[in-house]
Amino acid sequence: MRLSRFFMPILKENPKEAEIVSHRLMLRAGMIRQQSQGIYSWLPLGKKVLDKVNNIIRDEQNRAGAIELSMPTLQSADLWQESGRYDAYGKEMLRIKDRQDRPMLYGPTNEEMVTDIFRSSVKSYKDLPLNLYHIQLKFRDEIRPRFGTMRSREFMMKDAYSFDLTREGAEHSYNKMFAAYLRTFDRLGLRAIPMRADTGPIGGNLSHEFIILADTGESEVFCHKDFVGFDIPGENTDFDSVEGLKAIFDKWTSLYAATSEMHDEAAFNAVPEGERLSARGIEVGHIFYFGTKYSEPMGAKVQGPDGKEHFVHMGSYGIGPTRLVPAIIEASHDDNGIIWPASVAPFDVVVINMKAGDQACDDTCELIYAALSKAGKDVLYDDTDDRAGTKFATADLIGVPFQIIAGPRAVANGEVEVKDRKTGARETMTIEAAINRFVA
Ligand code: ATP
Ligand code: MG
Repeated sequence: MRLSRFFMPILKENPKEAEIVSHRLMLRAGMIRQQSQGIYSWLPLGKKVLDKVNNIIRDEQNRAGAIELSMPTLQSADLWQESGRYDAYGKEMLRIKDRQDRPMLYGPTNEEMVTDIFRSSVKSYKDLPLNLYHIQLKFRDEIRPRFGTMRSREFMMKDAYSFDLTREGAEHSYNKMFAAYLRTFDRLGLRAIPMRADTGPIGGNLSHEFIILADTGESEVFCHKDFVGFDIPGENTDFDSVEGLKAIFDKWTSLYAATSEMHDEAAFNAVPEGERLSARGIEVGHIFYFGTKYSEPMGAKVQGPDGKEHFVHMGSYGIGPTRLVPAIIEASHDDNGIIWPASVAPFDVVVINMKAGDQACDDTCELIYAALSKAGKDVLYDDTDDRAGTKFATADLIGVPFQIIAGPRAVANGEVEVKDRKTGARETMTIEAAINRFVA
């Protein structure tokens, strides 16, 4: 992508409305724009990051055996009347009427709709277990939308829903998502700790929130320090192994970890003093097992091996991609801007032409840009006629992991500089070596 043809509206000044660093940097880097309170456009740079986050989430959901579909954002109120949540949900639900005066709503979550899909076509235990997910916009009319897309009114959620014949089966489905979440957050460059959590309006009795420790987090959390160093389940994890996944779950729930709503002071005080971690955190995922809470009122049942009908046991599993993007920034930035983990960086490398219009600089940059693009790298080429200082500041701000800097003096020697955004280390090398560094 040539920067001269891209759309990346950088802000020079710090936006006054931004209270936390991720919000400030997302606005300054031209990733998002607020359209009305708590409702955002994702501009091209932000969209690229969000897509990469979603692809990692999708990859791990698929690995764990979940199946993707897409449900609508607008829902009819009928289903919610069946489950009893239409009245119970309160003011966070945006209620709308269509032209026939039929009550509709913008979905804050999808338990009812997915249960309806399930009951309309699954009739036998032989079709279980089943886990259906989508990545879709939600709307919750939050009292206090704030911190940009960290807590917005319209936001994206990956929500998965599992269906099993028995409680034991549902626990295995829960453990699959538990392990998939550990892998997902790790691939996003984050350390998320599962904590015992309150089930809120979703209901149910087994629930964990996945929390990233961050000073700007809205939750108060308490856990054992050792979680920070625990091993993440590997790529070869067998998601069909009941014992294997149970062992992962047991290990990751063996030490104290709870959010303030579930906090047990006495149990926490039993943790040796030097191993206690009491901190603030950002909730990036939440998983629930809630048994037959929806299947019973909505009549979602299957025929079991005993020939009798059984209400299915369900769970739901949410991750917030539009919250994860700022959460990653909270965890990875410096005074100059964002430092993206390679897995979600909007570009792999930025080529900075320090003197656009200078023949040798232009030729060198074009050569590198073409070679890296051809090799499948996602390259941003800063071909604008801005001052070099402005270009360096922009490259640092948007956090691309590597910069290839081509200035007249180095280029005259057939050389360029390669800068590592994270460490700041700069290395001068031949043009060919710079290309090989990224292609090889
Ligand atoms: P919170 O406690 O932060 O209000 P919640 O418990 O209501 O969230 P869930 O119903 O568990 O949220 O939703 C699943 C995931 O969706 C959350 O873990 C979070 O990552 C994301 N999410 C929820 N509400 C928002 C929001 N207002 N803005 C952005 N992401 C959100
Ligand atoms: Mg939650």
